[in-house]
Amino acid sequence: MAESKISMLGLNLSTLVQMTDQGTRKRSQLCQARVAHTTDGEDGGVPYMEVISIAHCKESKHSYVVTYRFSNPDNNKISMVQHPTWVRCSCPSFLYRLEVALSKHGSSDVYYSNGRYPMIRNPKLRPYLCKHLMVSLSGAVNELKARKKTETLTEKAKKIPEFIRRLLRKK
Ligand SMILES: [Zn+2]
Repeated sequence: MAESKISMLGLNLSTLVQMTDQGTRKRSQLCQARVAHTTDGEDGGVPYMEVISIAHCKESKHSYVVTYRFSNPDNNKISMVQHPTWVRCSCPSFLYRLEVALSKHGSSDVYYSNGRYPMIRNPKLRPYLCKHLMVSLSGAVNELKARKKTETLTEKAKKIPEFIRRLLRKK
């Protein structure tokens, strides 16, 4: 199992959420997620915090493993939504639509797929989050938030959880 590279050029959390369509956000509401494991790692000298969650959807009755990596988790100057973010999900949608697209933006790595462009399912290589990543988002952000809690938060940073809640509520 090759260890994945994390890129400083990865898209930030806010961009990934905003690129996610309303249909996917809505379908994520039929899913539940819980954080299973949080750990620290480093790649190419860049530290990251990894949050692994298990997402379960009522529709399909399947469970998937969801990974978020936030680079430079202890850097106080980066607000939560600005952290370059790396993601992975073990679901078919991630495999066929997202893995290559996100990898092109430094926000994932080719792991489950064969690395071919998703010519039919995502020809424009739009980087977005699958419903499992969406439903796991607040849990992952809470882990990052808890870690930063001891640091002095700026007024702007304090508003970030509400920003994410608002995005999730959008219909
Ligand atoms: Zn997924």
